[in-house]
Amino acid sequence: MRYSGFKVFLEGLTGNRGWKTAWRDPKPRSDYDIIIIGGGGHGLSTAYYLSKVYGVRNVGVLEKAWLGSGNIGRNTTIIRSNYMLPGNEPFYEFSLKLWEGLEQDFNYNAMISQRSILNLFHSDQQRDAFVRRANSMILAGADAELADEAQLRRELPFLDFDNSRFPIKGGLYQRRGGTVRHDAVAWGYARGADSHGVDIIQNCEVTGFHIENGACKGVHTTRGDVNAKKIAVCVAGSSSRVMAMAGMRLPIESHVLQAFVSEGLKPVLPGVITFGAGHFYVSQSDKGGLVFGGDIDGYNSYAQRGNLPVVEDVAESGMAIMPMIGRARLLRSWGGIMDMSMDGSPFIDKTHIGGLYFNGGWCYGGFKATPASGYCYAHLLATDEPHPVAKEMLLNRFERGHLIDEKGQGNQPNLH
Ligand SMILES: Cc1cc2nc3c(=O)[nH]c(=O)nc-3n(C[C@H](O)[C@H](O)[C@H](O)COP(=O)(O)OP(=O)(O)OC[C@H]3O[C@@H](n4cnc5c(N)ncnc54)[C@H](O)[C@@H]3O)c2cc1C
Repeated sequence: MRYSGFKVFLEGLTGNRGWKTAWRDPKPRSDYDIIIIGGGGHGLSTAYYLSKVYGVRNVGVLEKAWLGSGNIGRNTTIIRSNYMLPGNEPFYEFSLKLWEGLEQDFNYNAMISQRSILNLFHSDQQRDAFVRRANSMILAGADAELADEAQLRRELPFLDFDNSRFPIKGGLYQRRGGTVRHDAVAWGYARGADSHGVDIIQNCEVTGFHIENGACKGVHTTRGDVNAKKIAVCVAGSSSRVMAMAGMRLPIESHVLQAFVSEGLKPVLPGVITFGAGHFYVSQSDKGGLVFGGDIDGYNSYAQRGNLPVVEDVAESGMAIMPMIGRARLLRSWGGIMDMSMDGSPFIDKTHIGGLYFNGGWCYGGFKATPASGYCYAHLLATDEPHPVAKEMLLNRFERGHLIDEKGQGNQPNLH
């Protein structure tokens, strides 16, 4: 069933009796060509591109809870491709291009809004670093635009330009960045994959791997054993727990990241704004709430909730750039489990176990990566070769010393 304005009109006239469920609720089969573990954004987009682009349709997605229960439904919805390093920028720009055509591609309204992202800078040295980043983005085919203080004073008069500790000197715009309705991304990919024959199985937790002579043949689940030629792990914050069942230790730690939403306000923020001297990012949802977040809580955890010291830290950062936020009342907050890698960059790779593949280590960048991650993982699964824009995202990059340390923090997952 295709969604369209005409369909909405027709259903309105005929009592809304023609709508069908968006995806089926099949029982797990005993055999698939490919099993994807994890029905988050990345698992579902992998299934979608596998079936649509690579023609692999005998695919099962095994999700332990419900679609959207993980970080795909918990993030602050920001998309952008303002990365600098060659291992990252082509990948994230590919992702942004996929976002730009996604709603037409999977025929679902994901409320993709390229309302811009602005990274503020607060010193001359930071401006120079941002100019370098902007040049590197432009060389990779992305858009970047430097704004000076006078321009920002005109455009965003509510910012605290004269803050004595963190005066605002300007910012780096990426006009094509913005926000997307996060859970609609899961639903759109799920519906698209289902329409190409993929089985999406919820409430089906993978509890172990069936590994024989160095090759993975299938998985044990709470709904029985399922075999496949290839098994693709895609469980984000649970990566280390799931891969431990295959006897693998990963260069990944799990941390909590919190998000916050204020009461609904009249439109005030035109796009996404980030603080350059601390960790704080804010946008305004279409319902009017200010959606914001900051640093991870800073200790290892698998809990989907955070603690008060970070709430204070995030609120202080918000106050440092836009004191008017102190007048807004906080409506909701929640936490998600972040798969923080040692250099802050992700993995899309085969493992040393035959037939077992791994996708994870997304840190703060996993939502914006959803389309490219799925596309590149599908490419790897279908061809056994890394996609050209993901060829640096390999598990052995630490052995080789080829880190993709975008932030320049070294091997400190809590700092990326
Ligand atoms: C508060 C917060 C804000 C964020 N903001 C942004 C942002 O603005 N921009 C951005 O780019 N990124 C952001 N991120 C990061 C981004 O959300 C994640 O990196 C990304 O969503 C992770 O990929 P996913 O969608 O596949 O994960 P998930 O949705 O977490 O999917 C993983 C799935 O695996 C399932 N699973 C786990 N174990 C098993 C098992 N044993 N068997 C079967 N299934 C299993 C889980 O139930 C889950 O549904 C944010 C994250 C958080 C928490």
